[in-house]
Amino acid sequence: MCGIVAHIGSRDCVPVLLEGLAQLEYRGYDSAGIAVIGRAGDLRVRKAKGRVSDLAAGLPARFRGGPGIGHTRWATHGEPSDVNAHPHASGTVAIVHNGIIENADDLRAKLIADGAQFASQTDSEVLAHLIAAVDASDLAEAVRQALTSVVGTYGIAVLDTRQPDRIVVARNGSPVVLGLGDKEMFVASDVAALVRYTRQVVHLDDGEVATVRADGFSTSTLDARTTIKKPSVVDLGTGSYDAEGYRHFMRKEIHEQPKAVERVLRGRLDERFHTAHLGGLNLDARQAREIRRVKILGCGSAYYAGLLGAQLIEEMARIPADAEPASEFRYRNPVVEADTLYVAVSQSGETYDTLAAVQELKRKGGRVLGVVNAVGSAIARECEGGVYLHAGPEISVTSTKTFTATAVVFALLALHLGRIHDLSLADGARITAGLRALPGQITQILEAEERIADTARELVGHPGMFFIGRVRGWPVAREGAQKLKEVSYLHAEAYPASELKHGPLALVGPDLPTVAVVPDDELFDKNIATLGEIRARSGPLLVVGHRALDPRLADQVMLVPRNEPELDPILLSVPLQLLAYHAAVALGNDVDKPRNLAKSVTVE
Ligand code: GLU
Repeated sequence: MCGIVAHIGSRDCVPVLLEGLAQLEYRGYDSAGIAVIGRAGDLRVRKAKGRVSDLAAGLPARFRGGPGIGHTRWATHGEPSDVNAHPHASGTVAIVHNGIIENADDLRAKLIADGAQFASQTDSEVLAHLIAAVDASDLAEAVRQALTSVVGTYGIAVLDTRQPDRIVVARNGSPVVLGLGDKEMFVASDVAALVRYTRQVVHLDDGEVATVRADGFSTSTLDARTTIKKPSVVDLGTGSYDAEGYRHFMRKEIHEQPKAVERVLRGRLDERFHTAHLGGLNLDARQAREIRRVKILGCGSAYYAGLLGAQLIEEMARIPADAEPASEFRYRNPVVEADTLYVAVSQSGETYDTLAAVQELKRKGGRVLGVVNAVGSAIARECEGGVYLHAGPEISVTSTKTFTATAVVFALLALHLGRIHDLSLADGARITAGLRALPGQITQILEAEERIADTARELVGHPGMFFIGRVRGWPVAREGAQKLKEVSYLHAEAYPASELKHGPLALVGPDLPTVAVVPDDELFDKNIATLGEIRARSGPLLVVGHRALDPRLADQVMLVPRNEPELDPILLSVPLQLLAYHAAVALGNDVDKPRNLAKSVTVE
């Protein structure tokens, strides 16, 4: 969470910092701040609770300088407030920090005993005091020495007025990217803040420290061994960081889905053998045949996309598959099997819990693939193979197009594994054609947006709702409930439709609407029976499915075009995204930056 930016060069860095922070605000947005070295060599710090725009509005016109560092916060230690906002300073040193310092309490006690005076309740402030307390002539050396006593995760940027020709940055678990300009250098948590200025970037690895000067940079490990970094070029072919006339990124990203799915499929479908080619898997046919189980790991919507993926793999490849929250997996001392294929899913490729699960798996000899959107991200680099989503930048905190793109990647993986196992050529052809039809069918669903918006406006009068589905519809229901919760703040609970009568039916009545996912598959009649049970208790019903239903059975049906039964869940999820979006708009919520949340969860 949170975004850090920094700039060094001859121009005034304040506009660069503010612009960068605005781009990173999706990562955290409860407070923001900047620190610059003024013309007189003084340290100038401004910070404010609230948004980057609040910070900018309160800056004096003459607040200028450089180099500088900036931060937009997602609080973990200490409430969002002016004093807890970053940067934090000690003497001549100022820092911004993304992550969590786990031994902050111990460090704080020791620093206070040595005379340090703390201004905030944050864990991060210890870093400023630790660095300021080191007696070293070189700032990078001071940072390295200070970090030896730190346990936790960090992406940091450090200024020292005694060394105004440099910024020092370091990374352990939270992303730090350097942007290479012409006689100026940039630093950010995400390339989103850099692309306006440069396409040449360097991703730091965990355990690396960099000294950044206007004319270049040098990197080393925490024990001062020099490392060699090769810049890469950001590919912007897959989208932009601009809302492009849409009122919200969420709606823009929902509407980008046909294009995103086309990109996921591009070059990956084989018309001759009716299979999928996934270049980055690093898995030959013999190794693929030896897979006995697939375990998918992710957090939030990545986990729900993983549930959908597990269903696809079991159905098409007949390999036992399941999904588990990465955060649970890593802490339960999992049994790691050599013939299990592990798949880690993360939009940002920086999700801390998922990254830690990958590291735990690797330590135990597990084979892990990554399904990631952000090219060059930590999870992409940590995994031995994988598939990029190519969905383009996703800025809205809640994921939509990356959920769909992930599900399509799993359909490709399932097709690939299926054709190596027992999926027939004919079934391969059926799935290939189904995949090709997805972009056009998503467009059709989006054309019904106004009707879905009307439904959403009716639903927001209720305090909450159930989402139900069976087997293929179950991950759809879970993701549908997640979307609604995230952006509308209405209570939404997902249940397998078959489980309703085993408990939750007690809640059903005129005040509790149910959104039922009812594909036209072999479980259709079972689903209809469940709808009957809800109707008998006067529960309002909204159905997402393929068939028009008797109005006595459902108040409304959102009709979705039919694809192949295995692929239908991908399409059934789309109307639920629109439902959540329009519910949030109707309630006047900040759709792209829902309260308490942030994108790229780089803390535990
Ligand atoms: N743990 C730090 C704080 O609460 C940094 C949180 C963040 O990454 O925004 O201030």
